[in-house]
Amino acid sequence: MMDEVMKLAHEPMFSNFTWGELFPMEILMGDGKGAALLLDNRIPWILMALRNNFGPVTINTWHNGGQFSYRGYRPWNVKVGKPFSQHKFGRGIDFDVKGMTAEEVREAIKKDQKFWLEKGITRIEDKVSWNHLDLAMVKTPFMEPQKQIVFFGA
Ligand SMILES: [Zn+2]
Repeated sequence: MMDEVMKLAHEPMFSNFTWGELFPMEILMGDGKGAALLLDNRIPWILMALRNNFGPVTINTWHNGGQFSYRGYRPWNVKVGKPFSQHKFGRGIDFDVKGMTAEEVREAIKKDQKFWLEKGITRIEDKVSWNHLDLAMVKTPFMEPQKQIVFFGA
């Protein structure tokens, strides 16, 4: 069972992003590739665009001996972060870009907001040492289309 889960964790889910990068061990143990249903359909496209624009992107690292398990999909019983974190809806990702600081990534996204809004990013967490993006609903006056990504404080 454990071997199977570790094998799946290293298998690509889309492009070169692996199952382990997007899901913690307990989720892969529960339903294997059935976990795909937990992730918003726009997330793969956003991650591939990030990688294509900025370079290698790191999300979870548990399957490679690292400390991160909950930077992609985050189960409801996990106490890390906010109770209704977008991670718990499969609409939030924490990541690092190789060779760039979080602030440099935020600045680059800020400069090209139309592109990233079209990909589905609605919010980015500001002033933290990692990058958090999500696809939460952002209420605009009269529900007109969102024109800018919301940079929010913790
Ligand atoms: Zn986050």
